[in-house]
Amino acid sequence: MFKKILIANRGEIACRVAATARRMGIQTVAVYSDADASAKHVQACDEAVHVGGSAPKDSYLRWERILQAAKDTGAEAVHPGYGFLSENEDFAKACAAAGLVFIGPPASAILAMGLKAESKRLMESAGVPLVPGYHGADQDPALLQREADRIGYPALIKASAGGGGKGMRVVEKSEDFAAALASCKREATNSFGSDAVLIEKYVQRPRHIEIQVFGDTQGNCVYLFERDCSVQRRHQKVLEEAPAPGMTEALRAQMGAAAVAAAKAVNYVGAGTVEFIVEQTAYDQPESMRFFFMEMNTRLQVEHPVTEAITGLDLVEWQLRVASGESLPLRQDQLRIQGHAIEARICAENPDNNFLPATGTLQVYRKPQATSFERGTVRVDDGVREGDTISPFYDSMVAKLIVHGDTREQALARLDTALAQTHIVGLNTNVQFLRHVVRSNAFATAQLDTALIQREAVVLFKQETLGLPAAVAAVVAHTLHAEKALQGIDPFSRRDGWQSHGLAQRRFEFVWQDQPRSARLNYLHDGAVSLSLEGDDAASGVLSFAAHGEGLWVQWGSTPRCFSQIDWQGETAHIFTPQGATRITVLDPLAHAGEAAQEGGRLTAPMPGKVVSFAVKAGDKVKAGQPLAVMEAMKMEHTISAPQDGTVAELLYAPGDQVADGAELLKLAA
Ligand code: ADP
Ligand code: ADP
Ligand code: MG
Repeated sequence: MFKKILIANRGEIACRVAATARRMGIQTVAVYSDADASAKHVQACDEAVHVGGSAPKDSYLRWERILQAAKDTGAEAVHPGYGFLSENEDFAKACAAAGLVFIGPPASAILAMGLKAESKRLMESAGVPLVPGYHGADQDPALLQREADRIGYPALIKASAGGGGKGMRVVEKSEDFAAALASCKREATNSFGSDAVLIEKYVQRPRHIEIQVFGDTQGNCVYLFERDCSVQRRHQKVLEEAPAPGMTEALRAQMGAAAVAAAKAVNYVGAGTVEFIVEQTAYDQPESMRFFFMEMNTRLQVEHPVTEAITGLDLVEWQLRVASGESLPLRQDQLRIQGHAIEARICAENPDNNFLPATGTLQVYRKPQATSFERGTVRVDDGVREGDTISPFYDSMVAKLIVHGDTREQALARLDTALAQTHIVGLNTNVQFLRHVVRSNAFATAQLDTALIQREAVVLFKQETLGLPAAVAAVVAHTLHAEKALQGIDPFSRRDGWQSHGLAQRRFEFVWQDQPRSARLNYLHDGAVSLSLEGDDAASGVLSFAAHGEGLWVQWGSTPRCFSQIDWQGETAHIFTPQGATRITVLDPLAHAGEAAQEGGRLTAPMPGKVVSFAVKAGDKVKAGQPLAVMEAMKMEHTISAPQDGTVAELLYAPGDQVADGAELLKLAA
């Protein structure tokens, strides 16, 4: 076994590979770009080498530099992860020439499977079923049009060198073909440097089902069952699961045998995935399922953890064993499926705006408690920490949640909970969108095909998982709770100020989904409060809350008690509950406590009003956030808190005084 390997990748996959290497006692070398100087993957490895600028072509794709790093650090092998250099046969060859083991298939297998058209010709001769189509070398547009007409519509034009869902056009009718071809060729040239295309019949109600294969240098090859990756957006995977719902033993054996035949046809070694497109006449008729070869990915796949979860195996360990010359750890008849696993890709993007990728800083990044690494019920694979930036240079994937259960139903429930426990503030993500998919009837009942997201658009897009009433109750409860904590006394039991000065009501103004909203809080004489939400969702009732860990139990009226956590981003409250999450903007900048009315270092009145009380006297030492004074204005009470540690120099007013907007209330010395 190797003593040291270099990981020629970044992000979650670099961390993933490093974790297994560490467990196996193998030293790891990271490479990193300028943007990744302090990235999680760098810290996950034993050594790290800077390889260049932030753009991939200046760093993670500079293979001479990466090979030099391997030599300089004494690494014996290179793990390419996925993307970047993983499917680059020149890189695989260069590794061998430099005396390094490429942890992947032979360069010849990468080459053979690298172009979709060529690999289809190869698969044809190996007897693997193909989608009806044209994958010839002749690229005459008139010929391509004739072929599409012969195959029938809808047809799919694919860039032969394509990948990552790019370079594909669905053509509905013959008249649209020429324009689609031209646009596909343009994209293919730009993205892949080649405009060669192939044409396929666009399979109806298509399901993407792929088979994980593994070969070794002794000529053994097994399949580790299937993954269903039908839930896609823009031809890219969103949710992946194993086993595939509705899969029969017979079909699995046939698809497994076809995948192994495909791998053997190219003398495959290591981890690979044979992707099939599966046709079905109806969702609940597995016997109608027919499969066709699409392409082979000659690397570890993003979604490999679902296979690990159902087999209890570590595929990176298998890769390392096979690359160091060992034979496969298990034979086909020793492999078993246990339970059901689902992976969700958490991406920085805006699902409601055509999944536009988003960038930004992970101001808050809370994740579900992982239960164990290999066969956890919940596993989180990521390459970022709170405070890290999702930059425009790389993939928009933030993390992968992988859940396992005895049944699909149990795995689904766990995924829903795990998504609820994933709190991200600072950039747009698809977390709430994923919850809608997971909770949708179509996904729950496995009505799977690659159009699921479009088909279910009405229930998936522009939806809130947490409604306005729950959001308002949470934000008001958290505000009251924060004030109570800051004042160090319970405002409800206070004899002075709070109630006895006659304040009975308080208004809260919000912006929710771009609409102004308001709520009224009434202080009841028994110390309780009641909250009324005005407008369309009008509701009212007694509001109560209790601290619990980092959040609050909140109950409003007759609604069930609900645990909620809030993270403030300026005036916007991000509310997270097990039921759902949402954000709401609180218009009064002082409505949530802890915010000091500070103007050029002076503690001033935020608006004209009356000084209710001072919580301090001259000479008191105070800590940042400690309440100094309470003001009442426009029927609302505001706590003025210390912006930093200091000593109270002088109180400039007395309780009961009327003050003007911007009046300095007290002097605080540093
Ligand atoms: P998987 O099939 O493992 O789900 P994808 O096809 O989504 O993986 O691709 C895995 C990673 O590799 C993604 O980061 C994707 O952006 C990248 N990728 C895939 N194909 C290409 C390609 N031809 N050129 C550049 N990046 C690619
Ligand atoms: P990539 O290299 O980008 O992963 P694939 O050939 O694997 O390209 O296709 C990506 C996705 O496009 C598939 O997962 C599937 O959803 C869809 N697709 C591909 N071929 C067909 C087809 N013939 N009919 C219907 N959908 C298809
Ligand atoms: Mg693919």
